[in-house]
Amino acid sequence: MLLKKIINSSLIILSLMVFVLADQANASQNYSDIPSNHAAYKEINFLTNLGVLNGYEENGKMLYKPEIAVTRAEAANMLIIALGQSPLTGSTSSFSDINAGTSESGYIEKAVELGLFPTTSNGEFRPNEPLTYEEVSYILTKAFNLNTKEASTYGSPFLDVTSKSKFFEYINAAFYNGITQGENGYYCPNKSVTREEFALFLARAKSKTYRLKLPAAPTARVTGAKGQAVVSVNDLNVRSTPNSSSKANIIGRVNKADILDTFATSSGWVKVAYKGRYGYVSNKYVKNKTVKEDRSLNSTPTKVIHSNDSSSPTIQASVTTDSLNIRSGAGTSYKVIGKLSYGTNINVDSISGNWIKITYNGVTGYVSKTYVKLLNQTDNLTLKNKIIILDAGHGGKDPGATKGSIYEKNITLTITNLVVQKLEEAGATVFATRIGDTYPSLEQRVAFAKSKNGNAFVSIHVNAAASAAASGTETYYYVKANEDDRKDKYLASAINNEIVENLDMRDRGIKNYPYYVIKNTSMPSVLVELGFITNSNDLLKMTTDKNIDLYATSIYNGIEQYFSKY
Ligand SMILES: [Zn+2]
Repeated sequence: MLLKKIINSSLIILSLMVFVLADQANASQNYSDIPSNHAAYKEINFLTNLGVLNGYEENGKMLYKPEIAVTRAEAANMLIIALGQSPLTGSTSSFSDINAGTSESGYIEKAVELGLFPTTSNGEFRPNEPLTYEEVSYILTKAFNLNTKEASTYGSPFLDVTSKSKFFEYINAAFYNGITQGENGYYCPNKSVTREEFALFLARAKSKTYRLKLPAAPTARVTGAKGQAVVSVNDLNVRSTPNSSSKANIIGRVNKADILDTFATSSGWVKVAYKGRYGYVSNKYVKNKTVKEDRSLNSTPTKVIHSNDSSSPTIQASVTTDSLNIRSGAGTSYKVIGKLSYGTNINVDSISGNWIKITYNGVTGYVSKTYVKLLNQTDNLTLKNKIIILDAGHGGKDPGATKGSIYEKNITLTITNLVVQKLEEAGATVFATRIGDTYPSLEQRVAFAKSKNGNAFVSIHVNAAASAAASGTETYYYVKANEDDRKDKYLASAINNEIVENLDMRDRGIKNYPYYVIKNTSMPSVLVELGFITNSNDLLKMTTDKNIDLYATSIYNGIEQYFSKY
C-alpha cells in the first residue's frame, strides 16, 4: 500500500475555506475513515480545519489513518502550524540527518528554536522515528506553557513513572492539565503516539474545550523521594498505614515490574508514592532500583581483559538502559559526548574495569559496563551477532483469528517469546515488535524492523478457515517478479519444513504473497501460518506446552539453517 500525502497545508486551508463557505452549519467530515461517531472526530476535524492536520488520498478517498505513528518531523510540522508560527527559512541545518533548505528542515528548526524539542547530544534530529509518549508530554508542555513547577510537587499518577523518570514533570503537567491520561494506571513513556492520539492531545492542549476532566490535585504533596523500588510480585497491596491486620487500609494494588518512588523503610514496610499520595508496601516484595546510571560505579580502571586485536572476534554488547551516556573517558567525571538508547548494539573495543571503550557512529568513547549486556563468546557462531526481528501477529485490541476464547494473538506471542529466548541464548540479537499484549500497527512493525537493521524478519501467525477441515502449515515470502528470490524462499522453506516435520503438520508449502509486513521490510522476510485455529488437531498442537515449545524450536532451527547458508 503506497501512501501518497498529497495535500499541503496551504492547499487544505484553501479547499476548506470553500467547503466551510458551502456548508457552514455542519461540522465537516474531512476523512472517510473518521466517521462522526469516531472517538476523535471532533478533535481531528478541529485541527484539520485549522490546517494543522493533513490526510492521505487513496483510491479517490481522503483518509486520516488514525493508527499510524506520528514521526518527530511530522510532530514538529503540526506543532508549528498549531501555534500559528512560520517555519524558519535558511540555508543551513542544525542536524546531520536533516537536509537544509527543505520544508521539513524549516519546521524542525523553528520548533527547536522555540525550545519545543529536547535537544539531542549527537547532532541528529531523528526525523523519522516515532514520537513517544514521554516526548509528546514534553513538547506540549513547552508549546502551551503548562505549569511544570506545580505539577512536579505532585506524585506521579502512573505506575511506570517516578519522580526520577526522564520528563517526569512534563508527564505530570500533561496529566494534571487534562491532556494525557495513560491507560490503566500506566503511562508507557516509550510507546509511540498514533495520529489519533496526537490529534486528541494537541486539540486538548490548544483548546480547553477538548480537555479531559481535570484530575483532582493530590491532597498531599509527595516530594523528596529517596529512591525507587521495583515490585517483584503481582497484586501487592498498597496500604495507607504500615499495618496489615485489616483490609480497611488498602488503597490499591501494584504488580510485578511497577516502579514506585520510595521515602523511608522501617520494620518491614517501605513508604512509597502511589498515584500521587503516600502509601506503604511490604519490603519483602520490592527491590531497590538503581536509577542513576553512574551511582554504583567503581570508576578505577583496572586491567584490560580484552583488546581489539585481529585474531579475536569482535565482542558486541547491547544497551540495557533507556539512555546510556557515552563519556570522553573511563569515569563519571568525564564529559558526556553522546547517548545510546535501549537495545542499541555496540562493538566493544576494550573493557577496563567497569568501563567499556566503544566506537559508535564514528565516535570513540566509554560507557558503563553495568548497563550493557555482553554478547559473549559461548555463542552459536552461526547466529552470533545476527540481528533477527520477530513479529508476533496481531495483539492488543486485535485478537487475530479466534476460536471461542482462544485468540491468535496469544498463541503467536507465546511462541514468539520462546523463539526470542532460544535465539538470544544462542547469541543472536533479537528484536520483537511486541513482547506483550500490545498492538503495533503494520506500519510500526515495518518501521521498527527497518530501524533495527535486521538480517531477517519472521512474522508468526495462525490461520483460520470457514471449513474445519482446512489444516496445515504454510509460509509466505514476497519477492517481485524480477528480484532474486533465493534468500526469502530459503528462509520460508527452512521454517516451513521444520514445523511440518516436527509437528507432523500437513504441508501447504511456501507461497509468494505481498502481505504488508513482508512486502515492506527491507530484509529477507517471511510470514509463517503455524496451523489452523479452526481445525481441532492443529489447535490442540498450538495450545499444548510441549508442542508450543516444538513450534518455537522448529522456527529457531529454520532460522539457524538459513544463517548457516547465508
Ligand atoms: Zn494473523
